[in-house]
Amino acid sequence: MQREPLELYIHIPFCVKKCLYCDFLSFGTEDERLKGTPCLPSRKEPVPQNYIEALCREIGEWGRKKTLRHRPVISVFFGGGTPSLMSEKQIFQVMAALRETFSIQKNAEITMESNPGTLTLSKLKAMRFCGINRLSIGLQSTSDEELKTLGRIHSYGAFLQSFKWAREAGFHNINVDLMTALPNQTEESYRQTLKQVLLLEPEHISAYSLIIEPDTPFEKMEEEGKLNLPDEDSER
Ligand code: SF4
Repeated sequence: MQREPLELYIHIPFCVKKCLYCDFLSFGTEDERLKGTPCLPSRKEPVPQNYIEALCREIGEWGRKKTLRHRPVISVFFGGGTPSLMSEKQIFQVMAALRETFSIQKNAEITMESNPGTLTLSKLKAMRFCGINRLSIGLQSTSDEELKTLGRIHSYGAFLQSFKWAREAGFHNINVDLMTALPNQTEESYRQTLKQVLLLEPEHISAYSLIIEPDTPFEKMEEEGKLNLPDEDSER
């Protein structure tokens, strides 16, 4: 009997710091909300080892479920947060737990979301070594000014370095995330972003619109009239 394939999603809810527009489940280093818990991320350990241990236990528990056992895994997606904040050792540990528990197919697509500023050549080589074959890089814009407005941790230069390292490490499937409708963004600056990214020939580009989410610093700034956002027609 043919078993229905599985696609796995692994969430790593930690970031260096929260971007001003973000409402994803993620915690910055020394996040107040995690004070007093065993999973407080720090500069030294941005992804707490306790979280990795719990994650690996949970992978084992899910893998033992009758309904999931022996089903072929055709894709794995590490999302966040910033999964590329994991250390090389942690990446190996989670991948080993997945392989011990699930039947990951030889041609499975295994993606890691990443942010410039958290990648090194050595870490990218480690990802490739343990079978991660697709990298998604959160760039958002090639304008350093726009990146600063968003509260991103990186510059365009840091992205370029990460992209170069990713190719050098052997990634032949790279996605670049971009955003529109940013404060002070113009049609010209977005065209410039697209042009610069297209020159790098990534295999895929994901283009999102900024949405002002409740309970984010951007929501407050918008209420106070401090965000110069393009209207919907200009954005389209
Ligand atoms: S890097 Fe992504 S998940 Fe982390 S705070 Fe920024 S937008 Fe949110």
